[in-house]
Amino acid sequence: MAISNVKRSVAKIVDVGGNFLLGPPYGGFGFFRNHGSRTARKVALTFDDGPSKPSTANLLDAMDALQVKATFFWVGAHVQRNPDLLQRAYASGHVIGNHSMLHSRKAGLMLTGGAHIDASAAEIAKVIGRQPRLYRPPWGWLTPWEGQRLAQRGYTVVGWDVYTLDWKVPEIDGRSIAQGICQDVRPGSIILMHDSYAVVPECHKIEMVRAVQQLVPQLRAEGYEFVTIPDLLGLQAYA
Ligand SMILES: [Zn+2]
Repeated sequence: MAISNVKRSVAKIVDVGGNFLLGPPYGGFGFFRNHGSRTARKVALTFDDGPSKPSTANLLDAMDALQVKATFFWVGAHVQRNPDLLQRAYASGHVIGNHSMLHSRKAGLMLTGGAHIDASAAEIAKVIGRQPRLYRPPWGWLTPWEGQRLAQRGYTVVGWDVYTLDWKVPEIDGRSIAQGICQDVRPGSIILMHDSYAVVPECHKIEMVRAVQQLVPQLRAEGYEFVTIPDLLGLQAYA
């Protein structure tokens, strides 16, 4: 086997093992909140990795039309580039959470540090005047010491129980994304979606928006109500 193939295989094992140990639904050492009450037909849409143009702007337009509120976990570096989108989302009643400053997996794996958490919170606070207290770790990887750092700062770590492949490049078609979500959703579900790509400052995700336009009316027809994470979990979004 060529060296590059060996490296790729090792990387794959690290990814799969890391996801299992550190990510939802099994990993994360008890820090994740992966869903709300299973007895009420409420679900929360969450979007990671933005804000970016034109994806986030198009998504906000679509959600205005649908009159649905979501929770965004945004990257500090992207907030710096697009403060207008943060202002707009917050003013529209969406909830803003922290997804770290640079979307670095390594920062959360380090035994010491926390600048990646605080710098991003500061960028968000600069625009909306409030410090977020909801956090989703980049890549969904949470070590116990990162969990401690977040708990000390008063954060709730938000996971998910409905996973989507809307981060794939090129995009999967919106109908398939929506169908997958509607099959997996249960009362209390937290749905993971992406309004941007983690390390791309500008992106145009057409199918992600189409998926939202399809799944919201479909799940409403099944009796589901869309709420934000603070409403679903009964906690504060900001300090
Ligand atoms: Zn992310």
